[in-house]
Amino acid sequence: MQSVFIFEDLVYVKDEVIRAIADQMSIGELAWALTRENEHIRKHFFNNLSWDDLNLLKKKLHEVITFDLQKKKAAHKKLFAVVGTLPEYRNVRFQQGFDSQEDFEGFLTKASLPAEPVYGVSGAETPVCRFFETPDSGRLLQETLAKNKADGAGTLRLPNSAIQLVNFAVCPKCGRLFSFKELAQYYARPRPDSQYKAPADQTREDARMFCSACVLYFIPSLLVVGGKPERETQFLSRLQTMYFIEQHFARRDVRVLSNNDENFVRKDKFHTKSMPKETASVQLFLNNSIAAYTTETPAASKALVKGILNDVFLKELEEKPALVCNLVYYTPPALIPNLIEGANVACSDAIFGVWQ
Ligand SMILES: [Zn+2]
Repeated sequence: MQSVFIFEDLVYVKDEVIRAIADQMSIGELAWALTRENEHIRKHFFNNLSWDDLNLLKKKLHEVITFDLQKKKAAHKKLFAVVGTLPEYRNVRFQQGFDSQEDFEGFLTKASLPAEPVYGVSGAETPVCRFFETPDSGRLLQETLAKNKADGAGTLRLPNSAIQLVNFAVCPKCGRLFSFKELAQYYARPRPDSQYKAPADQTREDARMFCSACVLYFIPSLLVVGGKPERETQFLSRLQTMYFIEQHFARRDVRVLSNNDENFVRKDKFHTKSMPKETASVQLFLNNSIAAYTTETPAASKALVKGILNDVFLKELEEKPALVCNLVYYTPPALIPNLIEGANVACSDAIFGVWQ
């Protein structure tokens, strides 16, 4: 099973690893990598450098006047690349993130996102609801936004950004619009389909919405809206988002999210380094986030809501934009900046869901 390596883990690596890093990085790069890092990590390097290199590094660390996050990130990236070449780290995943919020927004809105197959059941008899091909889509989007606002759920604005993620579900046959609330309620109890042996399997894997008036399954969309709608990907429920991300990683024999037992956090023991201690409770997160939308959770299970540590880096999903968009959509807004930056593992950030 692959483990995740974050910068702070350098404290625990052997001296040889530090020396391999120092051999392959310039002292200037090392200085950027160690800028604003703790003394334990710095000392580990200091103890493994030649006298000349040590003095040069200390000089450079004192010289750094204007902090440059891009240079520091580039230095960390190179450092991880060096560690990744060492045989004992061949099967390790390394902390990574988007360079900046703008970089991430560019990814969300760029014209040519990789094409993805439909998640879950698809086929000729299951049309995909496509915003850009829907007549009167502008009005329907406004209606969706109004319904989401009334429900207090379904529209996610990225922190410090004009970009919103919005569900868009219109029956391709009769034109009926389904709000986020209706989607969440449906996905909690989908219309039973005999191809699934257990109802729980269908809840996780069947991403179709059902219009009972038309007796028609269809695939709803998730819209990226800037000043105007920019792109669309497939809408997934919270459980499906986790499930398809887990499946994606499982193909590489990597266990993430709820596939990794170590990620389960008991409600009473939950805390995240990203939140002040006094507010670090699951309940507060639930109250404050779209993930709180518990209509997806059967009443009897609400008490079992667990935090699940988010050990996925968005960058690892770059070729799967729908999974990126849906993961962000279900992340508590306060934790989204960490997720974009790739600091979610170091900060013990969580996503939520009932997983039994
Ligand atoms: Zn219909």
